[in-house]
Amino acid sequence: MPSFQVIAVHRRMLLVRAADGSELPARARGRNQSVACGDHVTCEFDALHREWNVSGIAARRNGLYRSNSRGGSELIAANLTQLIVVIAPRPWADLFMVDRYLCAAHCSGMRAVILVNKSDLALQAQSDAELAAYEQAGFTLLRVSAHSGDLDSLREHLRNQTSILVGQSGVGKSSLLRALLPSCEAPVGELTGDEEGRHTTTVTRLHPLPGGGDLLDSPGVRDFAPAIDRLTGRALGFIEVERLGTGCRFSDCRHLREPDCAVRAAVENGNFSARRYESYRRLQRLVTRLRS
Ligand code: GDP
Ligand code: ZN
Repeated sequence: MPSFQVIAVHRRMLLVRAADGSELPARARGRNQSVACGDHVTCEFDALHREWNVSGIAARRNGLYRSNSRGGSELIAANLTQLIVVIAPRPWADLFMVDRYLCAAHCSGMRAVILVNKSDLALQAQSDAELAAYEQAGFTLLRVSAHSGDLDSLREHLRNQTSILVGQSGVGKSSLLRALLPSCEAPVGELTGDEEGRHTTTVTRLHPLPGGGDLLDSPGVRDFAPAIDRLTGRALGFIEVERLGTGCRFSDCRHLREPDCAVRAAVENGNFSARRYESYRRLQRLVTRLRS
């Protein structure tokens, strides 16, 4: 049975890509067939309606989920390899949300990159120090400017990865997408060919990059909040907590008030950012509230 990758989703209408790069429309059938952009699927041709139908979804390597209004989680895309958190000197980032993105990436086995856009604008000293803390923790930081158009370092990181750009409104995600994908403004009409296709904003799409790799864009969820219930492990995806936690007295230490906690000790002697630690505690509280 022919196999494809889903590269666009609009309700039940999909665009799938074959191994040779050709694209064709397909349909997800049945209520329970939840197909996401990035999924690998098999399709069958329905000769009566002259269309391809999804007959199976391959096991996912991972899924990226957002919190929905009911406190649950909703799949945004599958099989992504890299999450790029875009921030800017103005508007300065809600770092708690940045941390939540980084945790979501780590918990779903994706590479995480912090992209500082608008580097033509000056950063405040405080913001500079906060970025240094991310670098000290081991995160990759890239500085670019969508306005200057010098995006080589970003392009290098995107090569052969399946990436998504996320971040709060106003940091320059659309500007970056336009610069990276100069010819992508594909209308949805092309995807569905019917009246359903006018709601362009709800389409999630995987765009092939000129240098190899794909970039996912989902205009409706560019600044989504990652789902809390998908943050796995005791460290909830905080790489420093994961690393330092092996030195705690108790193997089930939550690093809050327990004695001989290596994570708190690291905060006290400056080896773990106090702000990141506070962010960890806040996320723990959210998780506890959600699970109770
Ligand atoms: P989005 O909400 O994240 O998609 O952000 P937009 O791409 O819509 O950009 C928000 C604003 O920031 C717009 O006024 C852009 O012109 C501006 N902007 C984007 N990139 C840069 C940049 O590199 N430097 C400066 N100074 N402004 C930028
Ligand atoms: Zn501890």
